[in-house]
Amino acid sequence: MRGKSLVRMAVVGGAAALFAHAAVAANVKVTPLGGQDGEFCPQDRALIFEDPNGTRILYDAGRTVAGADDPRLGKIDVILVSHMHGDHAGNAHNKAPNSGTCDKPDVSVSAVPNTSTVNIALAKKAKIVTGSEMPPFFAAKLKANGGNPADSILTRFGGSVKQGGVTIATVPALHSNGLDPDYIGGELGKSMKEAGIAGYVGEATGYVLTFSNGLVVYLSGDTGIIAAQEKVVRGFYKAKLAVMNIGDGFTTGPAEAAYVINDLVQPVSVIASHANEVATKGGKVLPGTKTEAFMKAVKVPVHIPLSGKTMEFDAGGKCAAGC
Ligand SMILES: [Zn+2]
Repeated sequence: MRGKSLVRMAVVGGAAALFAHAAVAANVKVTPLGGQDGEFCPQDRALIFEDPNGTRILYDAGRTVAGADDPRLGKIDVILVSHMHGDHAGNAHNKAPNSGTCDKPDVSVSAVPNTSTVNIALAKKAKIVTGSEMPPFFAAKLKANGGNPADSILTRFGGSVKQGGVTIATVPALHSNGLDPDYIGGELGKSMKEAGIAGYVGEATGYVLTFSNGLVVYLSGDTGIIAAQEKVVRGFYKAKLAVMNIGDGFTTGPAEAAYVINDLVQPVSVIASHANEVATKGGKVLPGTKTEAFMKAVKVPVHIPLSGKTMEFDAGGKCAAGC
């Protein structure tokens, strides 16, 4: 009996040690794909999230991902698009990673009428997961280019879908979401352009992602201050890491974004995003920037998305490496 229980203890102990090791390694990796290696530049939006199980999610490809051939992309399973504006869906993009400068990015390659998102999805055979009325638009573009329209997947407010072990939900974002007539083309697109109106594709969105290690991440998208950040993002989803847009003018500025983080979402840490400025030089935040003002105003650690530098976050939302 005694021998047997000793063996059992050893087995249980070994399993516990293994589990502890697995838990240590089970971080979510976040890699910004910005305009210049090691910097945080005006057009930077794109982030790759890698689940511990290997699922890779591209959030808001924007203009700094150099199209579907960008070697930094690697395998992409899912693409998220917060809304249809060109700096998020990608109406144009860099010729190559790091082309142009931080101040004057090269966005010389047009991606209309497809969007860079659709081009990347086709090349990577990735799913596009969006809310509102965006899925039929992406489905039609995939179909028109020989892809599978079923790869455009809907997740509307209040529901969620699971892709590769990551649960993806959309949450409200108070912004606008007009579809540029350049994506529509033809006589209809021409008439709309002349009239100065955009296509209707529903509300802009944010996202809440729940990874397989338990980490819950809020992606604000372009938004103003909204009650859902407290009642839904914190109250229901309990997000521990936030990616917060701070650029002002088009979305919350540093003071508004800091209020969202400190008072409404209350995550364990936050990644600044969408600053619309040259925020760093040599990887250091420049004085007098919006990014610096946001860092000073926020009570939890603020991490800067330096292009190409991978950060790792544990289940509790704490940066475990690379910050
Ligand atoms: Zn934007």
